[in-house]
Amino acid sequence: MNIYDIVIKNIKIANPEQETIFKGNIGLKNGKIAQITSKNINGKRVIDGKNYIASPGFIDIHAHIDGDISCAELSLVQGVTTTVGGNCGGGPMNLEKFFNTQNKNGFPINQLQFIGHSFSMRHKVGITNPYVEASDNEIDNMKDILEKEFCNGAIGLSFGLEYAPGSSFKEVIALSKIASKYKKLISIHTRLRAPDDLESLREAVRISELTGALVQVSHFVYQYGTGIMTEALDIMDKARDMGVKVWADSGMYTSFATGISTSVFDENHIRKFGWKMSDLFVASGSLKGHCLTKNLYEDLRSGNENAIIICNTGIENEIYEALLRNYVVLSSDSGPSPTGNMEEGHPQNAGTFPRFFRKMVREKNYISPIEAIKKCTLIPASILGLKNKGRMAVGCDADLVVFDLNTICDKSKFLGNGRPDAYPEGIYCVIVNGQVVFENGKIKKGILPGRAIEIN
Ligand SMILES: [Zn+2]
Repeated sequence: MNIYDIVIKNIKIANPEQETIFKGNIGLKNGKIAQITSKNINGKRVIDGKNYIASPGFIDIHAHIDGDISCAELSLVQGVTTTVGGNCGGGPMNLEKFFNTQNKNGFPINQLQFIGHSFSMRHKVGITNPYVEASDNEIDNMKDILEKEFCNGAIGLSFGLEYAPGSSFKEVIALSKIASKYKKLISIHTRLRAPDDLESLREAVRISELTGALVQVSHFVYQYGTGIMTEALDIMDKARDMGVKVWADSGMYTSFATGISTSVFDENHIRKFGWKMSDLFVASGSLKGHCLTKNLYEDLRSGNENAIIICNTGIENEIYEALLRNYVVLSSDSGPSPTGNMEEGHPQNAGTFPRFFRKMVREKNYISPIEAIKKCTLIPASILGLKNKGRMAVGCDADLVVFDLNTICDKSKFLGNGRPDAYPEGIYCVIVNGQVVFENGKIKKGILPGRAIEIN
């Protein structure tokens, strides 16, 4: 008789491809799902399914973990088994080295990486002022870098156009054409020049139209959840009806977090968005928890502490409006603290996925459990072209999350109300490539089966 490494017995099994939830047993062997059956099977280790549901591990299509273990652990405890980094135009370059280091040292979860334009590549070719456009020569240099990194296994190209307002459309299209040539994804943090700037979304759609590349519009609620969500989704609907390959992702919060030194907090930008100093609070470093004042703002901007600022903007209902579209998947936008201390930062780092199930499935009843699971597994896997992830099928990678639909909930809070890094509740265990990495409220330190995945 076949003995599996792990058997999860008598559990509700979610199959996002068939949109079914049925009771059965799952056998895992050599890092893969080896059996799904209603018959009795044996394993070296048996996990009692109790009242839990087993889902493929969640895939977080938009984050900034980029090799940071403490940050990855907060994704793991939410059920995330694969994270996508290098978003918003930032993240590591030289992916050959990055992937080798990650795979040598091990990591709690799987990682894919975009190559960032607006910070990473622009800096690499010597552009330090975000308000200037790249010269023809600089564009050529970025194209060369991009081709090399695509061959090194990047999943795609990411733009953070709001952070590099000087980026010309010519520059953006030239790089996007390379992505299209290599059949890579383009993730876009849109240009957003004002709180009602729908032109920035039309630009993202146009990039896909002109190049044929698949475009993923980043953290949609942070961009358009300010009273213009209906109009923004209308643009997406119409583009998709015309066959344009545009998708989007969104988190579960209305307040975004980013660095004080970025152009988002240039005085001019703050003025255009109409943010008051009291809308902005410090989320990292020695001044965390303080609302900005004019003096504090000037101190932080001139000092060398790259504090994370959380900006209260956005309308809660527009989160749900976005996430109810079938082409909008859940994402966390989570990222490490510049001080390395994950007790600070945004509660999205530890709360996004459980909050989605608590609010949208259980409390508001907006979406069925299997539809919610699909949005966190199969749909992002399809966008990313991952055939062995996001599915509950024999032969797929044994990335699984075992949780209780009746109790799963976020516990992380904004500073001042609790801890941003508090672990969620209702998740029994998380399995990555066939190994249990989180169980019963505890991370198994030193068990690091996550792989950095090269996409070729
Ligand atoms: Zn972003």
